[in-house]
Amino acid sequence: MNRKENIKQISDQDKIWDIAVIGGGSSGIGVALDAVSRGLSVALFEKSDFAKGTSSRSTKLVHGGVRYLAQGDVFLVLEALKERGRLLRNAPHLAHNQSFVIPIYTFFDRMKYTVGLKMYDWMAGKLSLGKSTFISKAKTIERLPTIKQENLKGGVIYYDGQFDDARLALNVAQTCDEKGAVVLNYFKVNQLLKGKDGKINGLSVKDQFSKNNYDINAKMVVNATGVFADKILQLDNPEAKKMIRPSQGIHLVLDRSFLSGEDALMIPETSDGRVLFAVPWHDKLVVGTTDTMRKKPKLEPAALEKEIDFVLKTAQEYLTKKPQRSDVLSVYAGLRPLAAPTDENEKTKEISRSHKVLVSDSNLITLTGGKWTTFRKMGEDTVEYFTRLTGERLPKSTSADIKIHAYSKEKPIDYLGVYGADRIAIKKLQDENSEWNELLHPKYPFTQAEVVFACRNEMAIKVEDVLARRIRILFLDAQASMDMAPIVAELMAKELRKDEAWIEKQLKDFNKLAKRYLIES
Ligand SMILES: Cc1cc2nc3c(=O)[nH]c(=O)nc-3n(C[C@H](O)[C@H](O)[C@H](O)COP(=O)(O)OP(=O)(O)OC[C@H]3O[C@@H](n4cnc5c(N)ncnc54)[C@H](O)[C@@H]3O)c2cc1C
Repeated sequence: MNRKENIKQISDQDKIWDIAVIGGGSSGIGVALDAVSRGLSVALFEKSDFAKGTSSRSTKLVHGGVRYLAQGDVFLVLEALKERGRLLRNAPHLAHNQSFVIPIYTFFDRMKYTVGLKMYDWMAGKLSLGKSTFISKAKTIERLPTIKQENLKGGVIYYDGQFDDARLALNVAQTCDEKGAVVLNYFKVNQLLKGKDGKINGLSVKDQFSKNNYDINAKMVVNATGVFADKILQLDNPEAKKMIRPSQGIHLVLDRSFLSGEDALMIPETSDGRVLFAVPWHDKLVVGTTDTMRKKPKLEPAALEKEIDFVLKTAQEYLTKKPQRSDVLSVYAGLRPLAAPTDENEKTKEISRSHKVLVSDSNLITLTGGKWTTFRKMGEDTVEYFTRLTGERLPKSTSADIKIHAYSKEKPIDYLGVYGADRIAIKKLQDENSEWNELLHPKYPFTQAEVVFACRNEMAIKVEDVLARRIRILFLDAQASMDMAPIVAELMAKELRKDEAWIEKQLKDFNKLAKRYLIES
């Protein structure tokens, strides 16, 4: 994935792309993946880094959604379970089977969750990741040693998928690039181009570094900008009605010792009727989430104090090792691009999580809602509109069978497993230069080689790109990410031929950002 090469390709003013995609989160890359699977030409533009928005801020679950089943959204669950199976098959280096335990405190809950999860298994059919079962109190304590034991009757085990969201976005972008698409980060779409008939026939994008503008001709333009969808709809029609209601969810990242063992914990109904997960992730514990309505879309939303208190209080209620504010290694917030309800009184928890594809009078296609798990199907459903818009024949989608970049079936032997087949290239860099074998931080396994690799192969341009979305340390331990920033900036400056002033500015920007992921105790 070479930025210079890709810029060269969009400089051809005569070229007419089949599809231009706005947004490099899960929705946008899903569209690009499906389009390349059918042999269409695609250009994708992301105004920041790939997955900078909601797509790096999820609970990290590849799931059918046990909660949606409880809400009776059977179709959504069926579709997501099918996609879950495909994702685990096509990106085994990034997504794996994870066992969950629901602690049971009443007889009614035992019946409800045992039956409900049997149904979940049955719906997954051949793609089931394992049989759900009721386990005794003793077994529950053995598997979750820090679970609250008072009134505990036992537990229900079930299986879902777990993944690295930002790295998946990156690897899918790389897959698209390898199949001929042009994917560019730090390219902001600031205008939609229209013909005399008022129909969209392209867009105008600006390179956020060089400030150069490019006009792109395209037969179909897809707005896949998540919570920013209304902004693009208003570029198309300043009178457009708002259709997105951002709903914020936060996560706290803790040391694994708060929930030792291999299982994740699921609390299906917290004091205010939400679901709370505590999921092992990169040797830490991710705990969340919330569902708080917000007014404005933001790329870097901040967790509210009441959300932090809620997650901590709920975790304290269920765990014997009770996390305090001072135990939080990182806090991150994300915004769900939920479709605005027609009824103003509707609660965000109840707004459907299924995706929608909308066609504007100008032929702008907007993809909204949905979830990470179904990103490929969302892409497929969107690309299906190509014939309706252009009258051209559309080859069959084969995205369900595409192996994602760095696909590797080898079981991860260490943390480099998340790089899949790219692990070999990182090892090679470590052999090439012994300095690159050195750790970025004494407490963590990341080496200098990964920074070099991210600059050369993963389109990392800012210090934040490496620390937040290539090695994920900002999300795992914000203070450690700040400690690592100087060496990362120096390595990047060498690779990208930048000067001292660049290093200084990068460090200033990164430290300002990372402080937002820390909470005061
Ligand atoms: C708290 C939380 C937890 C979640 N957990 C899960 C989970 O465990 N599993 C699951 O399956 N789903 C989960 N989801 C849902 C999932 O994360 C989202 O549905 C998905 O990431 C949305 O992706 P998106 O591409 O639509 O939006 P985004 O990821 O926000 O991407 C939109 C992109 O568009 C870019 N953009 C905006 N304007 C422009 C422009 N003018 N030019 C170019 N680019 C532009 C933005 O920079 C942004 O990167 C969760 C969501 C939240 C909020």
